[in-house]
Amino acid sequence: MTETEIGAASPARGSARKERQLVSLTSKPSPATQTSRPEGRTACVRTFGCQMNVHDSDRMRRMVLDAGYAEVQRYEDADVVILNTCYVRENAVDRVRGHLGELNRLKREGRVKKVALAGCIGAAEESSELKEQYGLDLVIGTHNTYELASFVGLPTMEETYTPELPGTVGEHSAFVTIMTGCNYQCSYCIVPSVRGRMVCRPLDNVVAEVERLVASGTEYITLLGQTVDAWRHEGLRFYDLLKRVSEVAPRVWFTTSHPSNMEDRTLRLIGESETIVRRLHLPVQSGSDRLLKVMHRGYKSERYRRKVEVFRESVPDGTLSTDLIIGHPGETEADHEATLRLVEECGFDSAYIFKYSPRRGTEGAEMHERGEAVPEDVVQRRFLQVLRAVEQNAFRQNQAKVGSEEEIFIRHGVSDSGKAIGETWSGHSVHVGPEVLSPKTGLPPEPGEYVRAKILSAGPHVLYA
Ligand code: SF4
Repeated sequence: MTETEIGAASPARGSARKERQLVSLTSKPSPATQTSRPEGRTACVRTFGCQMNVHDSDRMRRMVLDAGYAEVQRYEDADVVILNTCYVRENAVDRVRGHLGELNRLKREGRVKKVALAGCIGAAEESSELKEQYGLDLVIGTHNTYELASFVGLPTMEETYTPELPGTVGEHSAFVTIMTGCNYQCSYCIVPSVRGRMVCRPLDNVVAEVERLVASGTEYITLLGQTVDAWRHEGLRFYDLLKRVSEVAPRVWFTTSHPSNMEDRTLRLIGESETIVRRLHLPVQSGSDRLLKVMHRGYKSERYRRKVEVFRESVPDGTLSTDLIIGHPGETEADHEATLRLVEECGFDSAYIFKYSPRRGTEGAEMHERGEAVPEDVVQRRFLQVLRAVEQNAFRQNQAKVGSEEEIFIRHGVSDSGKAIGETWSGHSVHVGPEVLSPKTGLPPEPGEYVRAKILSAGPHVLYA
């Protein structure tokens, strides 16, 4: 199985990025670099999946470190192994089975002592069968991460969700989960059944975490939630939360939004604020009203277009990205044409485009079984047509940035390719050449620093400075 580090490359557009995010996110050092077992109690936290999971793993890691474990990368060096899993891909469970089989063998050999399964698979139906088959010591879902505390020997924490657990501290950027679960029932999505209904953290609690992170040196806060703009608490809406956070954090972004929840005042706030990155990710999924209804998305394409209009007016230099599903069961040629029209009209700067794949237990999967699947060759053609439309547009818009001078936040330091990866305030990803130096140190810029540089060229996915 391929293993890679998250964020090692620029946020590529299209399906490739999602593919990359969905593989295991912890790289395994080669045996040559780590041969002897470390002293004392050891733990290995292995992460699969999206940024929500990366963030959850950070909190688990803090717990095991607080409990006195040293972190190791290889299963065979660990007393305790925690697999934080993802259920998004169809073969996700099979892939995790491979890891569980290996861990079961190491346990029988007495090398690994305890294994915990966490994350979305931990919350799924199959988890009890996995627990029995592989003799797992703990199975927890995404809503009860706190149970890991007593498992590793910390005092028990009691909560219905996990806001009080330590998050990422001291890093230049951090994710802050403001809500878990989702109240929608989209036809293709497994999230509501594995993550449950929406639970929102109180505003003061979120702001306190952001303040702590900022005080510890974090520059960039990303507010996370499956439908982040659906956040509400005691009469307050996401607008209020975003406003407060933007007043205390130097740089803020949020994802993922749902068009039905996005308020115009939030879109205007993005344009008015000095600290919110002017990038909106607003998944539309389809341009066809008929298909949006089948998907239970809860809005029509016209409503989506109006949101985009408000965003473009309020944030003229902002970037807009979306998610699109191609080949949902029952998708007709007319539905596809409607998607192409919407793509043209909205002028997306990027899109994550997915070929539909059924998830067991969803309505879409039932439609698929009933024979409403779109033939693969048709899906492929439609996928390429949509991809081409998005990329042509993105390329044209990126070209317009060439020659401009931008303030760039460095997200990843200089890589093997000799370039650092940064982001403009308008949300463009930029590859920064080695001649651009930090104004503070005169050296290649470190993650968390800002540089000013001229955009020299542009491709469909990235700018070059
Ligand atoms: S809104 Fe998003 S998370 Fe919720 S069911 Fe739909 S696709 Fe899944």
